[in-house]
Amino acid sequence: MDRLFDQRRYLIPFRSTLLPQIFTDTLVIGAGVAGLRAAVAASEHGDVIVLSKGDLKSTNTAWAQGGIAAVLTKDDSTESHVQDTLVAGAGLCDHDAVRAIVEHGPRSLRQLMSWGMRLDTNAEGELAVGREGGHSASRIVHTDGDATGRELQRCLVEKVRGTTGVRVFENCFALDLITPGNEPGSPVMGAITYHPKYGLQMIWAKATILASGGAGVLFRETTNPAQATADGLAMAYRAGATVSDMAFVQFHPTTLYLPGAARWLITEAVRGEGACLLDSSHYRFMLDVHPLAELAPRDVVSRAIVRQIAKQASAAGGGHVWLDCRHIKGFQQRFPGICALLKKFDLDPAEDLIPVHPAAHYMIGGVHTDLAGRSDVPGLYVVGEAASTGLHGANRLASNSLLEGLVMGEIAGHTCAEMKTANGTQTTRPSGWTTPARPAPVSVISDIRPSDQGELDLDDVRSSLRSAMWKNVGIERSGAKLRDVGDMLDFWARYTLDKIFDEPAGWEVQNMLLVGALVARSAAWRDESRGCHTRTDTTEAKPDYEVHDCWRRGRGNAETVPVSKAPASVVVSGKGALV
Ligand SMILES: Cc1cc2nc3c(=O)[nH]c(=O)nc-3n(C[C@H](O)[C@H](O)[C@H](O)COP(=O)(O)OP(=O)(O)OC[C@H]3O[C@@H](n4cnc5c(N)ncnc54)[C@H](O)[C@@H]3O)c2cc1C
Repeated sequence: MDRLFDQRRYLIPFRSTLLPQIFTDTLVIGAGVAGLRAAVAASEHGDVIVLSKGDLKSTNTAWAQGGIAAVLTKDDSTESHVQDTLVAGAGLCDHDAVRAIVEHGPRSLRQLMSWGMRLDTNAEGELAVGREGGHSASRIVHTDGDATGRELQRCLVEKVRGTTGVRVFENCFALDLITPGNEPGSPVMGAITYHPKYGLQMIWAKATILASGGAGVLFRETTNPAQATADGLAMAYRAGATVSDMAFVQFHPTTLYLPGAARWLITEAVRGEGACLLDSSHYRFMLDVHPLAELAPRDVVSRAIVRQIAKQASAAGGGHVWLDCRHIKGFQQRFPGICALLKKFDLDPAEDLIPVHPAAHYMIGGVHTDLAGRSDVPGLYVVGEAASTGLHGANRLASNSLLEGLVMGEIAGHTCAEMKTANGTQTTRPSGWTTPARPAPVSVISDIRPSDQGELDLDDVRSSLRSAMWKNVGIERSGAKLRDVGDMLDFWARYTLDKIFDEPAGWEVQNMLLVGALVARSAAWRDESRGCHTRTDTTEAKPDYEVHDCWRRGRGNAETVPVSKAPASVVVSGKGALV
């Protein structure tokens, strides 16, 4: 697998001095909740450029339905939210990350509301709070029932548009992070980007915040929009950053399963309102699986569904189970978006059963960061779904991810001001490295040659990769399946990673191959079942694996980092940065 993990440093050949040059204090790669929140914070310390590879609506953030978890009512407490997060995380949450993010949540939400974010209220005019699986209190705030993400994205886009010093480049694809040297530890100084109108450009930045989102598209079945191709994880790994806990991919139990339809999420809040899962004989099978039935943790429900589908398949029962909402009063008012979606397929939840199936939903692993959003590469900060802060452990508690993006976006946006120094002097950073004060362009040369191997059917590689990931690295894994997929990816890498592409579709497939292999390698290393990582050949959680597995370019084996269990004494400063 070396070819995959130690592939060339950059995806394309270039000479930095021959390309158009753009300068900024902070470059934010990604315009979802984490990137936009980071941009607003960073704008207090200098100018900012935000990149989005598509338009500003094509983010996982905009697709979020259920809501944002935060302690906002008198019946709830920080302790309870912390505890629920730790239970879901199955021994792998970093306690200080959990406490810091949960404590910071109410403040972040109030700030959002002051920026104009609309949230649903109840008859008394108080915030309406919903409940989702794993939460012991009602603490999920939402907008228009199930359109929370759309409103959050709208609010943050408007805030960013109205913030002086922030420029937004839409349809601008980041290919790679720029480092003056190729060895791990060489500081990140911005990114090389591609825009269909302007071509390749160098964007030099004192600080780079990676907020490029998740990796759902690695899997054949996913709830994620098409942009979630793991580019950020791949470029951070190529630049020498450490990634951790890559085995942990959360699968959502209930997505609409109709031939030809995208795998639209049917939010867990629907099961929170009483929806039941039925097998092909209309039997409510979750009652036999878990005391919480349909509200059992997501991994339990997802596994139960795939096992039920396997049983049914042998009895010709079809490739899905049914979600029954027919008895839920006021469904249309509570879930107008889902009703509108179902209507497009001539389904009425008051009358019809809804065919559902699990799908890859959330990337828990990512670039390993500290609680200020720093990666281990100087100048590179990582936030949102692309980061691994230790909040989610081995399984994400529902609705904690928008919260994490908001909180860590704000914190990293302030932290990265540490890269800004006066008048070109050199500064020593806390971790001991030094960095030039201005993002002066250095000459970076990527000298790779075109491959002499033949043409490639990119769509075929992409769909083969997604199928292989779904079958072998999906909801149920085993050592044998993971070895098989490792061999497959290694073989495909031989004739895919040596190519030079000139547009995003090719770069995305190269990124997906690398990150798919990182997920498979971590899953093979983790010889246990824990949280959302289920191995059929080793079904228990093992104490030896209660650690984060960390991987870095040029280092073939996992390094392990202990999980922080210490009670946190984290202080929130006036600017919102954690110190
Ligand atoms: C259907 C669905 C429902 C969900 N519901 C909820 C929920 O109710 N509550 C909750 O807490 N979480 C929910 N989640 C998860 C949550 O939405 C995400 O974890 C969160 O929005 C991630 O935010 P982000 O800012 O990290 O990334 P995103 O919002 O995905 O933004 C990523 C950004 O990076 C950009 N980007 C990526 N690659 C490149 C590149 N190469 N060059 C330039 N730009 C790039 C993209 O264009 C995009 O702007 C849901 C997710 C989905 C898919």
